[in-house]
Amino acid sequence: MKITEKMQKFLDEIVYPVNPNFKIKNKANKNGLYAFLSFFGKIFNPTIDEKYITIVAGDCWFPASYFDSNGNFREDHSESAIETLAHETLHEYDRKRITTFPYFLLYAFPQILAIFSLGAIGAIWNSWWLLCLLFLLFLVPIPAPGRAWSEIRGYRVNVMIGRLKNDMNIQGYIEWVADKQFCSSSYYFMFPFRGYVIRKLLETEYEKEDMYLKIKDWFLKNKN
Ligand SMILES: [Zn+2]
Repeated sequence: MKITEKMQKFLDEIVYPVNPNFKIKNKANKNGLYAFLSFFGKIFNPTIDEKYITIVAGDCWFPASYFDSNGNFREDHSESAIETLAHETLHEYDRKRITTFPYFLLYAFPQILAIFSLGAIGAIWNSWWLLCLLFLLFLVPIPAPGRAWSEIRGYRVNVMIGRLKNDMNIQGYIEWVADKQFCSSSYYFMFPFRGYVIRKLLETEYEKEDMYLKIKDWFLKNKN
């Protein structure tokens, strides 16, 4: 698979310093951990393979529509892909800081607690199984503060890049992100507190943080 020259430049200068093993992959050939996640993810978000770019432990999975018939990355999808890579870089940066397992728990809490319901299988001969099944309650869409924290940091990248464009309606974009990504099923109703999310995305203080500065610089230097 070939990617575009500009994407390669972004990978070399911004992504690889954070994660040298970062890989771009095509959801048409899904395997491993992503194939597993997509199987369950589809229950809540049926278009996860077609409409979403997903990052799993350093592998960045793009929908098949981002590739041409030879399996190479399409030039006309390059700009939007780089913006997405910038958002994903923030996740990678956070994952490296916090380390993978705690980051995964933070991101998947509280729904991940449902895994304890599997204990019911081991406790089938006594009444503990009932208690174990109670953990299934964590499958309901309880707000996920860790996931929201991480995605606010991610979407701040998109907002920051949006501010560099002259024609972008920032307020409109932020409201769309709050409604579509935080309050709907896209991320499993991750944080349905619209006003809070909008406020957090409107802030600009974060742009002084090192990782954001680097990304902003890159976009300023590599404007079309
Ligand atoms: Zn994200």
